[in-house]
Amino acid sequence: MKLLKEKIQVMGRAVDSDILKVDSFLNHQIDPELMMALGEEFARRFAQEGITKIITLESSGIAPAVMAGLKLGVPVVFAKKQKPSTMGSGFFTSSVHSFTKQKNYSICLSSSFLKNTDRVLIIDDFLAYGSAAEALIDIVTQADAHLAGIGIVIEKGFQKGGALLRAKDIRVESLAIIEEMSENRILFRD
Ligand code: 5GP
Repeated sequence: MKLLKEKIQVMGRAVDSDILKVDSFLNHQIDPELMMALGEEFARRFAQEGITKIITLESSGIAPAVMAGLKLGVPVVFAKKQKPSTMGSGFFTSSVHSFTKQKNYSICLSSSFLKNTDRVLIIDDFLAYGSAAEALIDIVTQADAHLAGIGIVIEKGFQKGGALLRAKDIRVESLAIIEEMSENRILFRD
């Protein structure tokens, strides 16, 4: 997606050859117009899939997921990184390994908001090694729901998550795929 790639080129910063910082429009400050454009693009790509629910992971997946939900006319549920005391016993849980933070954490999502009749679109901000996506897929499986596909804002194509998911015949739509990066250069896959 041209608009997103331009934004990454102008405002993104490769911290090193592995981590991209996009705090000025996605991960801290949020650009609402860009989020709307991302949501429209996800909605366009998954329009034929009969999506009934979008799930994402707090916090940076929420903005693009909500915009996609608005365009598709479906609710958005975000998995929480800590189980709130107000969440009863009925919830799905899974584990994520964060390569950026080098730690494992649990995520949970109330079973009230994901049913076996749902056709689910997973949306997240980044795809790196695929652990966050795998945990959300695990939750879809626990709910016995149908996984229609995964929408990613920025995929780092040089890390193995995208290849692993596509090898399982999962439809992964990434709006920008980075092939390679260094402190002064970000190269996209066509
Ligand atoms: P994965 O589980 O695919 O290894 O990593 C995806 C998650 O890690 C995303 O939800 C995102 O929060 C975080 N992440 C991975 N790589 C990056 C990165 O280069 N920059 C930022 N800001 N977050 C990342």
